Amino acid sequence: MDLDKMHAWPIALGQQAMEEQEPLEYHESTTASLAERCASFASEWGSDKVASITEPSLLFKDPEAHPLVLAMMVLDRYGPEALEWAPEVLRVTMMRDNLQVSGASFAKIMAVQVILSSPSPWRQWNVFHWMARALAGLPPNFVFLEQPELGHLFVCADVMAICDPKRQTTVEVDKFVAAALRHEGHVWAPESLAFATRALEEPQLECSTCQALFEDNNDQKCISCGATTLHKVPYHYAALRDECIALWKPRRALPLERTVDGLPESAAGNLVYDVALHWDHAQRVRKQLLAQMRGLAK
Ligand SMILES: [Zn+2]
Repeated sequence: MDLDKMHAWPIALGQQAMEEQEPLEYHESTTASLAERCASFASEWGSDKVASITEPSLLFKDPEAHPLVLAMMVLDRYGPEALEWAPEVLRVTMMRDNLQVSGASFAKIMAVQVILSSPSPWRQWNVFHWMARALAGLPPNFVFLEQPELGHLFVCADVMAICDPKRQTTVEVDKFVAAALRHEGHVWAPESLAFATRALEEPQLECSTCQALFEDNNDQKCISCGATTLHKVPYHYAALRDECIALWKPRRALPLERTVDGLPESAAGNLVYDVALHWDHAQRVRKQLLAQMRGLAK
């Protein structure tokens, strides 16, 4: 574990969390309620029988360890106050207790710590981005922006929804997700990233009196000339989006081999293929959550 990187965590995240003092309702009963929410989420997704191949004691070094399972093991051992410990304290305490943690697992634990104790991941695009990478075991780069992968975004959205199902993302986070989707050529926000749909489609109104174009906030009058001659500008990629959704819907629950089977050689086919690959990653992570929780319960 790179100590410099470890010190960047509290600087970049802890302080942002501090500046947003906000009582978190889930804080007091974190361990029990987190386990409950994980169980209900996992049972929703992991209908197939998956056996955990990893002994719980080895999970801290397992590259496939689920971030929430790691966090629950930490909470179980050290109590909810571990959520407030600085990274060095947690690191040293775990070493003292003979728990060997890989750098990837430590990044996952830090990410869940931030998500459970701060609203920043829902509010600030850069924090959201670090979470998406760290939950995948990638140490966040606090200097350069690294392109997030769709699969990491799916997993991040899952983990955040489990930790606080009611909290909404801000426009800033939505725009970041929309930019990441656009960068890969996507014209729709699939599944758990649907919260970014508005940011992706940027609905606009056009005034046919003065031709002004502006964001569609259900205005009844033109913000430029006051006329009521407004009409919605159709989403430029509406046809492609609808084609993608039509291809994706019947395939979303299928295993990857069958999802990609029969996809047309078209723009929509290629986009759905890309979504399917990353969705498969998210599905695997969900199954790991289920399997590893079963391992813990033994
Ligand atoms: Zn006008």
